[in-house]
Amino acid sequence: MVDLAIVGGHVLTMDADRRELSPGAVLVEAGAIVAVGPPAIAGQVEAARTIDATGCLVLPGMINTHTHAAMTLFRGLGDDEPDRLRRFIWPLESRVVDSDSVHDGALLGCLEMVLGGVTCFADMYFFEEEVAAAAAAIGLRAVVGQTVIGHAAPDAATPAEALERAGALLADWRGHDLVIPALAPHAPDTLPAAVLKAVRDLSAAENAPVLIHLCETEAELATIRERSGLTPVGYLDSLGLLGPRLLGAHCIHVDEADIALLAASGTGVAHNMVANIKAAKGVAPVPAMLAAGVAVGLGTDGPMSGNTLDVIGQLGYVAKLHKLTAGDRTAMPAREVVAMATIGGARALGLDDRIGSIEPGKRADIVLIDATGAHMTPLYDPYAALVYAANAADVRTVTVDGRIVVEDRRLLTADTDAIKAAANDRRERILAALPG
Ligand SMILES: [Zn+2]
Repeated sequence: MVDLAIVGGHVLTMDADRRELSPGAVLVEAGAIVAVGPPAIAGQVEAARTIDATGCLVLPGMINTHTHAAMTLFRGLGDDEPDRLRRFIWPLESRVVDSDSVHDGALLGCLEMVLGGVTCFADMYFFEEEVAAAAAAIGLRAVVGQTVIGHAAPDAATPAEALERAGALLADWRGHDLVIPALAPHAPDTLPAAVLKAVRDLSAAENAPVLIHLCETEAELATIRERSGLTPVGYLDSLGLLGPRLLGAHCIHVDEADIALLAASGTGVAHNMVANIKAAKGVAPVPAMLAAGVAVGLGTDGPMSGNTLDVIGQLGYVAKLHKLTAGDRTAMPAREVVAMATIGGARALGLDDRIGSIEPGKRADIVLIDATGAHMTPLYDPYAALVYAANAADVRTVTVDGRIVVEDRRLLTADTDAIKAAANDRRERILAALPG
């Protein structure tokens, strides 16, 4: 007897051999994948639930390795403002971000992600305990990082206070099935070295992940060069922060030596193509990072940056912009992009022993993508269909840790109308608080 059988459909396992089964079956017991094979394996055991996946692509859940989910409340504001972070976002956040707003915004972000096939996300924000609670309420897997920044923040007057909040987050969520508490120092240039060292020590003592914006802007490079004579990657290395527990978001402005350091240290990278090109920041040299063995996953960045939180919407941009940048249509093939969205993200977050592929022993984070739409018909190459034609609305069913969270495009774990209404209720207050 197993809990769940997903039968039929074209299974993309994303295992090391990139094994596909068409049709295939996946058996789930106690939240874990116990068997993957032809549909006949489902006939050999009784299943409490059977999902007919005919017409679907069945693959590991999308992993969004970098976001700020609660910023859904600010989506679409100040999109074309210059120097937006300092002149627009930080002043706005200082006026309206509190634990209630993060609660509502994080739920909305989780709703959007899970309906779009994201089963795991890595988040950096203020009042991060609310993001942890939202992920747990929706039933999403999440690495939640409490922001530590060098100036007064909505939830902490000083970096020391932010570190205290982070310590409490680590203590409160340690050992949770889905939520992994983490530290989120904002960026190398927005924190003094002493605070970065304190983050390093707390992370080491608690074996906690660290999420940081890294090599995102030219201004960051200039500040760190002035402070240390090093690149931001070299600077973090000198502080002892690089390593498998660290995930650097963006890594746009990295040189060959930086890439070698990222690879040798096992530091993960979150690649946020759509947000990066919208902000005209540049294109991260991901093909070179992958060739060097760096663990690279995909991310959306916050919804003020990339505007949407679903990873499927990123896939085509990632493939096409790297082709354009390389001047080579064979660059960044579709299968490689799907790998980054799944097993690559798991590696970048140090979770590849648990998630990222459909293999016995891994947790059952699985998405069924309806491939019967006009835009995906006829189906030849499932990777190409997914990367170049699919969209978030094609996601039919989602399981996280073996639990069916979305079924036939409907969220089973929370009231979607109530989540959207709570966000809409904040609209007037946010408009009234916009920086002039
Ligand atoms: Zn970010």
